[in-house]
This record gives sequence, structure tokens and C-alpha cells, in this order.
Amino acid sequence: MLRPPVRERLAFREAGPGQGRRDHRPTAARTGRETSWFTKTFKVVADEFPVILQCNQTQAVYIRLIFGAMEESIEGAVMTTQFAAAEQTALVPESELPEPRKSIVDDFAGYRALRRRIADVQGNGQEVPFFQPRDGVSHSVIRRQEKSLISYSGYNYLGLSGHPAVTAAAKNAIDKYGTSASASRIVAGEIELHGELEQKLANFLGTEDALVFISGYLTNVSVISHLLARPDAVIYDSGAHNSIITGARLSGAKVFTYPNGDWDALDKLLTENRASFRRGLIVAEGVYSMDGQILDLKRAVEIKRKHDVLLMVDEAHSLGNVGATGRGVREASGLSADSIDVYMGTLSKTPASSGGYIAGDRGLIEYMRFLCPGLIFSVGLSPADTAAAMAALDILEREPHRPRRLRERARYFRKVARDNGLTVFGDEESPVASLIVGDDKLAMLLSQRLFDRGFDIQPIVRPAVSASTARLRFFLTANHTEEQIGETLPIVAQELEKLRRSAE
Ligand code: PMP
Repeated sequence: MLRPPVRERLAFREAGPGQGRRDHRPTAARTGRETSWFTKTFKVVADEFPVILQCNQTQAVYIRLIFGAMEESIEGAVMTTQFAAAEQTALVPESELPEPRKSIVDDFAGYRALRRRIADVQGNGQEVPFFQPRDGVSHSVIRRQEKSLISYSGYNYLGLSGHPAVTAAAKNAIDKYGTSASASRIVAGEIELHGELEQKLANFLGTEDALVFISGYLTNVSVISHLLARPDAVIYDSGAHNSIITGARLSGAKVFTYPNGDWDALDKLLTENRASFRRGLIVAEGVYSMDGQILDLKRAVEIKRKHDVLLMVDEAHSLGNVGATGRGVREASGLSADSIDVYMGTLSKTPASSGGYIAGDRGLIEYMRFLCPGLIFSVGLSPADTAAAMAALDILEREPHRPRRLRERARYFRKVARDNGLTVFGDEESPVASLIVGDDKLAMLLSQRLFDRGFDIQPIVRPAVSASTARLRFFLTANHTEEQIGETLPIVAQELEKLRRSAE
């Protein structure tokens, strides 16, 4: 989003070249007499996106860049300012696009940038590494394109997806209840399993109650946007998941951001701004899904208490993995259960299912159960998903060696990475490890070379991360053996070195 002052400076656009009417036509349809308006717009947008001043391109392309930036930012597209600006550098005149215009989105800046990037990858003789189907369960070895691969791309952290007891529970639930909840829970979609799973989650986390939703993403978007409103503020850090950012934006509350892990910056931000909002919610993640840092909960709680704001922790990647028995960052910190105001997590990772949950005090859960739009206007969690998550939590409770083994593997992975001269991001015991390669193309090429050598490691590129932090991301699981890790990392180091040399 553009900062408010820039929005105000762009207000003349409303009365722009269309003499008072807003001109929604594509750039190509606009005329020469609009040039001074473009120049004025350009100055304001260039101020916001200085990257466009560095491009060595024609004026026509500059104008395209301006509108690209404005479309992305003003018309409310999802990319952040930083990524939108980066995207613009990839734009080319339509005449150079590889395919004829044929879609209703051909005029969208984001779509043009996407087509260009896909064409670039294919032009390099590579396959687009996304949406590639695999066969079978996501374990440490998978099959893709008839090849057997050691895989680091799935977050089946404790190997519970595919566990016979979890599979049997899901099948039994289908036999008993069918494949769909067939209604929103508030009307006729409620089944006993929903309440049982919520009770189980609350007991596991030590909270008064819990509530499950049909998607983790939806949980953040819907809960954050329902909990906060205009005089309030949502505060998150630079590593925040898109679902948190979207929830904050939809809430209408003020948004404040700070660099991930910079607690002094957060403290200062709140000291300076606390008086400007009513309720505040800090949203942090137990394990950051891109860089793999584990939350310093003690610092977060200290600051939230000092400034009298609430704390929500997204435990998508920490539930089941962090803490002696997998109860997450609260258990690892030794703090009391009420240190976190809103526990949030997904059922799609360690719980081997799909869906999301929040947990907390009874009032919070009742408020959301009856009034949260993402719950009451959406179907109930499917019987199979509900039963699978319950069975997975049962196993987790009975078998604490699973999270222990995952943490040992994570430590081992980082040791072997260091031995091979690789620097990976993330805390020693974190199940997420990122090898930054710093360039989208290099990340995709490296992933492809590793695929050819028998490894499945996903590249993470724009807009999920900024171009300069393009990376290979490893999800480490309790199922990875030391042998697999020992086999993988020397080859990753070799292939990276080869690619870097050939780029020189
Ligand atoms: N929060 C975080 C931190 C995530 O990484 C994800 C996605 N992996 C989500 C929320 C959304 O969860 P889901 O994919 O289960 O919808």
C-alpha cells in the first residue's frame, strides 16, 4: 500500500486526464494530451518507487511502470509496495510479450510481469518448478516424474500424514459422517468431532477453549480482521505471513511493522505510537516460515505487557515441533499459558490435516464462534480433516520422541551445512532452514540441478521473498535420516559452487 501522504499527493489523479472522471482505460488507450498529467504522476510515484529512476528504459516503458505501480498499489492488489516495485522492473512493452493478447488480465501489470518471468524460465530450457504433482505421501523420499527423490519440500514434520492410525481415523470419519460437513457449523454442519478436536487442542495448549476453521490462511485473515477495527492497531514484523498482513489490512486498523527480531525497534515503535490507537495486537510467529527463526516469546511478552497490547502467536510451524513435548513456543519459554492472548495454528503441518485453529480464553472463543465471518459463513471442517487432526494430536501426546528427533535432525542438518561451507538461516533447532542464493534465476536453476541429482528442494522467489533473498527452503522432518542429510548437503554445495562459477 502507498503511504497516506502519497495517496493524498495522488488525489489529483481523480480529476486527471479524463476531466474529472477517473480514467480506467489501459495505458495504451490514453492520448498524448495527457502527458503533463503523466509527468506529475510520475514525479509522485518515482518518489515512492525510486527503483524506476534506475531503469534504463524508454519513456513509454516508464509510463507503463507508473501505471503498473499505481495499479498494484492503489487498486488494492495484494503485493506489498516493496515487491510491487520490484515487479515493475520486469515489465516489457506488450509488443515484446511472447504470447498474443487473449485474456481479460493481459492489461494487469502483475500478470504481464508473471508471463515475462515464466517465459524467462522456459527460455532458459528450465521447467517452471511450481505446481509439479508428486506421487504418494509427502515423506523424506517422494516420487515425482517417475523419479525417486529425497525431499525437503513438505511440512509433514513428524511424519504423521500417512501414519496408519491417522489414515484409519479419517476413513472411519468418512464412513460415519460422509466427506463434507455439508453446512456451516452454526446451522447444521456441527458434528461431535469438531467439539472433541477443540477440547483436545485447548487441553494440549493449556487454554480454556479453542475453535477450528477450514483453513489456516482463513483463520488469520478472519480472526485478525474481526478482532480489530479502525481505532485499533495491528503490529507485525518483516517476516509476517501473508495471511497476517491480509487480516490486518482487512481489519481497517492501523498497521505498524518492525524488523523481525528487533525488540528494541518494537519497543520504540510502541513508545512513540501507543497513544494513537485503542487496542493493539502484536502478531508474531512461533517459527518463521521463510527464515526459520524461533520466536523469543519472553521478549515479546515483556513488550506486550509494558505497552498494554495483546499478543497473538501463529504456531503454524512450531506446534508439535518446538518445546519438549511439542506444545510450542510457550512450552519452550516456560511462561504461563496466559502469556499469549490468542494462540493460532494450522492443522496442515504437524497435525497432518487441513484447517486452522485459535485457542485462548472462553470469551474470545465464544465471540469468534458466534460472530467471526470466516467461521459462520463457511462450511465446517470436513469430518476426515477433523478426525485426522485428532488422531495426529493423540500420537503426538503419546510419542514425544517425535518432536525430539525432529530437533536433533535440525541440529544435525545445520552442522553438516556448516561443514560444507553453507550458511543456512534459522535457529539451530528450527524445522525451517533457508539457503539464501540471492537471485531468482539462480534459485530456480539450483533447484532444477538438484532435482536432476535426486533431490526435491523448492526454490522460494518473488513475491514470496524479495529478489535479493531468493532461496532454497528446506523443511526438516523427524523422518529425515542422518544419511539422507549427509548425502544431500555436499551435493547442494557442489551444485551451488558450479552455478556461481559459471555465472562469473
Ligand atoms: N501461517 C503461517 C505462518 C503459514 O506458514 C501458513 C502456510 N503454510 C499459514 C498460516 C496458512 O496455513 P494453511 O496453509 O494451513 O492454510
